[in-house]
Amino acid sequence: MSKLLSIIVPCYNEEETVEPFYREIQKLESFFIQEEIRIELIYVDDGSRDQTLARIKELRMEDARIRAISFSRNFGKEAAIYAGLEHAKGDLVVLMDVDLQDPPHLLPEMYRHIKEGFDSVATRRVSRKGEPPIRSFFARAFYKIMHKISKTEIVDGARDYRLMTKQVADAILSLGEYNRFTKGIFGWVGYKTKWLEYENIERTRGETKWSFWKLFLYSIDGMIAFSTAPLAISSFFGIVFCFLAFLLIIVTIFRKAVYGDPVSGWPSLVCIISLVGGVQMFCVGILGQYMSKTYMEVKKRPIYLVKEEL
Ligand code: UDP
Ligand code: MG
Repeated sequence: MSKLLSIIVPCYNEEETVEPFYREIQKLESFFIQEEIRIELIYVDDGSRDQTLARIKELRMEDARIRAISFSRNFGKEAAIYAGLEHAKGDLVVLMDVDLQDPPHLLPEMYRHIKEGFDSVATRRVSRKGEPPIRSFFARAFYKIMHKISKTEIVDGARDYRLMTKQVADAILSLGEYNRFTKGIFGWVGYKTKWLEYENIERTRGETKWSFWKLFLYSIDGMIAFSTAPLAISSFFGIVFCFLAFLLIIVTIFRKAVYGDPVSGWPSLVCIISLVGGVQMFCVGILGQYMSKTYMEVKKRPIYLVKEEL
């Protein structure tokens, strides 16, 4: 029996890459025929301000298997992935970037592993070739910290490029949270996952949508979404400072009783007050982060809004 494969491609200002991507998919046609796979190609236009949607419409004239969902504004890649999964009708679903950094030629191999019985086939890049060194450094640090503070497995270099069964896709959809950190969600849902590795491929057309600052904020989102360890930091500081204060009290009483020292030292007092004040603000800040995320969750706003569906 033939299977339907949904290919989900989030696009944000990608007028240059929409078509080359489709041409690459076309190159797999013989594989699809051989394996009796029907495909649907779902482009999710994440509120692009350029000609992305127009390009997709042109391609649709050529190939009726192309579908499009267009958002009312830019909601982010996580929202685009969610929308794609919701609209996918396939028995199998694959998520792919439109910039060809997720090489479509890996699909036949991924499919083979699904046939072997894996529920999901994930990819990770083993190198970060062509990436600025500071960015790689911070990315590595992020994964190290995450590994320590979260029980959910978040793999270094993992891409969102994944082929999965309908069952896994539904599991991902069942996590209806507003703050979506997909890399963590994949790990959280589990299932039998096969990892494929490949060398990083640089983007050839268009440009990356991620500035350093955006990535930094995203990493904080990830930590808050998949760990509550930062909340424990304030308790930790609390205990340490109580202990220090206790020692100081004893030392001060001792000095007064034995040496009759006058109570002196407002410089040390200022140091202590500013240190403790700083630590307090830091802890309140962490609390605030969790609270703001909770606030967004309880509002239960939709993850995305559709303007046009084709
Ligand atoms: N993307 C999106 N919405 C956004 C940002 C990015 O749908 O707000 C899409 C983008 O079009 C691309 C994929 O997400 O298909 C990955 O983006 P990009 O290549 O810029 O990220 P990088 O590969 O540099 O991490
Ligand atoms: Mg890219």
